[in-house]
Amino acid sequence: MKVFKFGGGVLKTGKDVYRIPEILDFYKNDKLIIVVSAFNKVTNKFERLLNDWFYKNEFNKDLFVSLKEYHILFATEIIPGELRNITDKINEIFSEIKCIFSKKLSDNYHYEYDRIVSYGEILSSMIIFEFLNQNRTDCKFEDVRNLIITNSDFREAKVNWEETEKNITEKCKNTNFRICVTQGFIASDKNGNTTTLGREGSDFTASVLAYSLDVEEVIFWKEVEGVYNADPTKADDFVLLPKLSYRESLEQAFYGAKILHPKAVKPLQNKKIPIRVRSFYEFNSEGTVIKDISELSRDFYPQNPIFITEENQILISVSTLDFSFISEYNLGKIFGLLSKHRIKVNLMQASAISFSVCVTNDIFKIPELIKELKRNFKVLYNDNLQLITIRHYTDDAVDKMISGKEVILRQISRRTARYLIK
Ligand code: ASP
Ligand code: MG
Repeated sequence: MKVFKFGGGVLKTGKDVYRIPEILDFYKNDKLIIVVSAFNKVTNKFERLLNDWFYKNEFNKDLFVSLKEYHILFATEIIPGELRNITDKINEIFSEIKCIFSKKLSDNYHYEYDRIVSYGEILSSMIIFEFLNQNRTDCKFEDVRNLIITNSDFREAKVNWEETEKNITEKCKNTNFRICVTQGFIASDKNGNTTTLGREGSDFTASVLAYSLDVEEVIFWKEVEGVYNADPTKADDFVLLPKLSYRESLEQAFYGAKILHPKAVKPLQNKKIPIRVRSFYEFNSEGTVIKDISELSRDFYPQNPIFITEENQILISVSTLDFSFISEYNLGKIFGLLSKHRIKVNLMQASAISFSVCVTNDIFKIPELIKELKRNFKVLYNDNLQLITIRHYTDDAVDKMISGKEVILRQISRRTARYLIK
């Protein structure tokens, strides 16, 4: 058995979906679990619909209509006329969403977020399943909310592994179907509320399923050929990394490489399940395999320095109002607020009287965070920054990335150099 994950990056329009049956035929001897995330930028759009409601007090009707039309167009492109009760189903889902808004949302933002934003995956998985199911009988659908059970930390829900493994084994292990389609990113708490696993969390879903079923391999189907040593959309020279250790890919994900979700690697590492990142369009390339490579092996460290850049960073520096030391008590408060607003720290630095965190400048979360910090602290910030990480750095690599730039903060360890640049 294998787990496949198809992300929004490869599912932009109906035409892209025609590629899936080709892939399924290529793997015709395997049992497959297919995890799909929301199409293209749909998650961002549902987020905006919710944010307009929460922060501007408005129901963004244009956005709502365009989301609905996008999904209808998507489905009608791939499902022929006579089978088009899919349009009714999509309409029904959008009426449901409208109904949630017209009954007024509660003021628990995180809870409402999961209730609304999860529709991206509900829609995509339904459309993909209906498409596949038109001309095959070996395919079934499972709502992942009956499989993955989490706590109620909405937007960052933690998996209850025991319950989850039990459900997955029961529903997916001994089925007669060759293919099972399900959703990424979303899950359910034990009261039946929809939860989500954190942005880009579908990778983690694939990993939870793979772990629970002890599969042979997990394949992440991507727009790109595999994992490169630099972001091919930004860098002018880059190389494909044919193999990586779990440890290296975990580090890269942690430092912000966009290829895999940081949480996805660990469960697979624990069971030594190989991960393959390969092109959705090109079967000729084997892509990148991430596996158990011994630290003593020559392959453990990639031969090239790895470049990871993150844009739109803000460095927030916090000091006490009376300029006393930043104590553990204060740090506790600062981290409490970061966690409350679901903000991930990309880099941090402490000095005697101030503590700085570098985070991605989300226009909805950061102003709220700063407002709350200001109740207890003096807060300064510097925005529009770029965070550059170089793994396995060399003098040349550092030179290439930062010469002529204004460095605001640097952190160097044995294998990793990080620079915050103006
Ligand atoms: N659709 C979700 C997101 O965009 C989950 C995912 O893509 O992995 O964050
Ligand atoms: Mg996505």
